Amino acid sequence: MKRLAAALTLAATPLAAQDGGFVEANLLGIFYHELGHAVIDIEGVPIFAQEEDAADVFSIFLIDAYWEEDSAENMAYHAASGFWAEAMWRDQEGGHIAWWDSHSPDERRFFNTVCLFYGANPEARQEFAEEMNLPEERQDYCPQEYDLAAESWGGVMEAMIERGAGETFVLKGEDSLTLGLLKDGVAALNAEMSLARPLTIAVEHCGEANAFYDPEAVQVTMCLEFEAHLKGLEQILAR
Ligand SMILES: [Zn+2]
Repeated sequence: MKRLAAALTLAATPLAAQDGGFVEANLLGIFYHELGHAVIDIEGVPIFAQEEDAADVFSIFLIDAYWEEDSAENMAYHAASGFWAEAMWRDQEGGHIAWWDSHSPDERRFFNTVCLFYGANPEARQEFAEEMNLPEERQDYCPQEYDLAAESWGGVMEAMIERGAGETFVLKGEDSLTLGLLKDGVAALNAEMSLARPLTIAVEHCGEANAFYDPEAVQVTMCLEFEAHLKGLEQILAR
């Protein structure tokens, strides 16, 4: 792992793609984020700030809770790097931070992801925090931030787990890298918990690299175009 060259500026080569798994980790991270929107809707979770931030927290919470340490760290590394790469890409294209957007700026999503993952297990992840240039001023608060996330999302997950195994996560779509990845993830969720209402997870072409939750259809859509977009981001990091 190479170090971030600078914590708060987009340096020329801030982050290099770690050996493999960038695309896969980001596809899962994005899926968990969309699942966050779905759970907020289906389970009626009250949210008192930006829902986009809450969905990011849910994503990193699942990565920490569901993956063994090595895989979890690899996933968190790549998911955070994905945000960093988006920011680099935006800058390369001459774009600006869209302050009006409901998502936090990518640089902020990067540090929030790093902080929460570090905060979940600070003893084991000190090196990770340093590798990702998480300033000490923020490090100090990360365990607290994680505890709040775990209390909030942990309660929601418990209610889903109490319902027992089921088939409320319904996956459909085209054979692809995304579908293959989600098959295991969805099976693991069904084996352990049930939603109050069934959720469709569709893997399909949308005409754009996107992923979204539609509350009317109760459906998460993972656009197949995301795979190529993520490969492009991986190239940006490798440069
Ligand atoms: Zn979202």
